[in-house]
Amino acid sequence: MMRPASTDLAAMFRRLIASTGPISVAHYMAEANARYYNSADPLGAGGDFITAPEISQMFGELIGLWLADMWINAGRVEPVHYVELGPGRGTLARDAIRAATRYGLEARVHFVETSVTLKDIQLATVPGAIWHKDLSTIPAESPILLVANEFLDALPMRQLVMTEQGWRERLVGLEGEGPDARFTFVVGRQPMDSAVPENRRQAEPGTIIETSPAAATVMYEVAGRLAGQGGAALFIDYGHEAPRTGSTLQAVRAHRKVDPFSTPGQADLTTHVDFDAMASIAQSRGARWIGTTTQGNWLRGLGIEARADALSEFAPDHAEAIHSAKDRLIGDGQMGALFKVMGLAGKNWPGGVGF
Ligand code: SAH
Repeated sequence: MMRPASTDLAAMFRRLIASTGPISVAHYMAEANARYYNSADPLGAGGDFITAPEISQMFGELIGLWLADMWINAGRVEPVHYVELGPGRGTLARDAIRAATRYGLEARVHFVETSVTLKDIQLATVPGAIWHKDLSTIPAESPILLVANEFLDALPMRQLVMTEQGWRERLVGLEGEGPDARFTFVVGRQPMDSAVPENRRQAEPGTIIETSPAAATVMYEVAGRLAGQGGAALFIDYGHEAPRTGSTLQAVRAHRKVDPFSTPGQADLTTHVDFDAMASIAQSRGARWIGTTTQGNWLRGLGIEARADALSEFAPDHAEAIHSAKDRLIGDGQMGALFKVMGLAGKNWPGGVGF
């Protein structure tokens, strides 16, 4: 796969840091991922990483069933909008919509996506979907059924580190000079105590914490809409249910972990999602937090085992592949425990299954 402009990004970062000083981890991540997602389709066996909807149609179908169930129990309000954040290839949306339609849910489809490359693929997969650069242009009346799989983890994360002098931002600086200079973590000079949530300020020197203003902004906006317009949302990501310390920044290229500094713009940079922080923000905006659980529990609760059996009966030649895909999605040593599912809803919306 050709990604011609990407070496320029490392050079651009070097020039920028050499002339204006170290940049934040969030800045590094934002530029690198914008370049990365715009330059090619990163998903699938031939790409850099594979996501749940690309593993099996069961993933999107069960999400579609969950959304349809919520909508039916809420009284089948129409019109209703299906909104997906960072839809990748559009596979999840296609599978979810197909399943939901069987229950009478005919939603208008909206994709929020920054990558022009992926946008073209998404619109070919789901013709008729309306494309948005951000959430601001999503209709502001009538309920939304929103899904985001592996979206929050791609948003820029800020890292803060405790020093003997208090909290400072963790920055990306340079070691050496000229085109051979290497990226390295350095500690900023500005006091950053006010950026650290109060209950996390007490810490040993060297402690790193991560906060994502970008993810917080998305959560604030989605929760405000759920509270005001009604609807339900599912956020699915690699992450933790309680706050943690330490850097979770990682880079994946061609299905292998690589140094996040080695090839900016050519590897997928992610961090773990702090679901505890996300749930607090959502609730503070008046949305109802249904719960956060592991992907394995959630998919089992929605009947993935029965669904796999039914699919296998229909296509016996594929039974083995269907069951191994299911195990990959729910297995503890695979995606089942590391990935979490968080459900949110509007105030008068019903509680969802699986939590
Ligand atoms: N949800 C898909 C793809 C996950 S990859 C799947 O499960 O297969 C992350 C997706 O988020 C990509 O589509 C990427 O282009 C998109 N993305 C990353 N940053 C974004 C941003 N700031 N706004 C909108 N989309 C973004």
